[in-house]
Amino acid sequence: IIQLFVPLNFLGFVYREIRRAMTDMQRMFGLLQQRPKVADAPGAADLALSPDEAGLSFDNVSFGYSGKRRILHGVSFEVPPGRKIAVVGPSGSGKSTLARLLFRFYDPDQGAVRIGGHDIRQISQDSLRRLIGVVPQDTVLFNDTLRYNLAYGRPGATQEEIERVVRLAHLDGFIAQLPEGYDTRVGERGLKLSGGEKQRVAIARALLKNPAILVFDEATSSLDSGSEQAILSAIREVAARRTALVIAHRLSTITDADQILLLDHGRIAERGSHAELLAAGGAYARLWKLQQRDGAENIPAKG
Ligand code: ATP
Repeated sequence: IIQLFVPLNFLGFVYREIRRAMTDMQRMFGLLQQRPKVADAPGAADLALSPDEAGLSFDNVSFGYSGKRRILHGVSFEVPPGRKIAVVGPSGSGKSTLARLLFRFYDPDQGAVRIGGHDIRQISQDSLRRLIGVVPQDTVLFNDTLRYNLAYGRPGATQEEIERVVRLAHLDGFIAQLPEGYDTRVGERGLKLSGGEKQRVAIARALLKNPAILVFDEATSSLDSGSEQAILSAIREVAARRTALVIAHRLSTITDADQILLLDHGRIAERGSHAELLAAGGAYARLWKLQQRDGAENIPAKG
């Protein structure tokens, strides 16, 4: 019995590890049905970078999911290590596609994506995915305790480490008022968390993983202003000293970005800081006025 038990237990462990690594990214990109279409180059190197080395760049990147329809057209931008770039634009303009290329779920048809100056086609996918943490729009919670769901960012995390990231993610007040605290069961058969609470769990997970690069996919659904403020300051914590790419739907959440790209039909239509883009008086400035008038509405969809 012991001989049988050990391997099964081990398989369970392996399975949980794989699930841990895959779920957030798949969830973020809706890739549950998709297989990666890329493979490691022969002799691909493992790349480990500290946050102050992990700048990223897109160099004249063009890409289409199928040969027929091009989605990105000659996109170039550079994010120095530790800086924050935000991407805004109408639905379908290619924002998530940029993030998928950064993860190398696909290779560009032209141009290159680089991290720390290395073309990501030359580095192992394992190490690439270790470098990048994701806060998806809609986080998966397992039918398990809150502690399990939090520690999933780094198996083996201590209670102290968990409590630290919970404070940074502004979840401590929420957990303190739960009668069972960290042992509260959440997920399908447990306590249902709100969208804002779930996103803060995702932020805590990302903080535990401690990646050099962070991709944050802002939830499209509007949150009440209390949750939005809590999430905003949590994002600032998680993005501090890391290279961050934020896919934003509300301009109010990205006014502090070092650079903002406005994508339109897969092209960078405008770029600059919030102040520069307002001063330029173009599409970004118009969107800003619209969102100020309508409250924190999402960017209107456009065909
Ligand atoms: P949203 O704000 O609605 O999330 P987005 O700007 O992130 O939109 P993308 O998801 O990057 O837009 O999609 C850009 C275009 O690529 C869209 O026209 C979309 O239909 C198309 N597209 C996205 N994923 C695929 C796919 N797997 N296969 C084919 N086309 C795709």
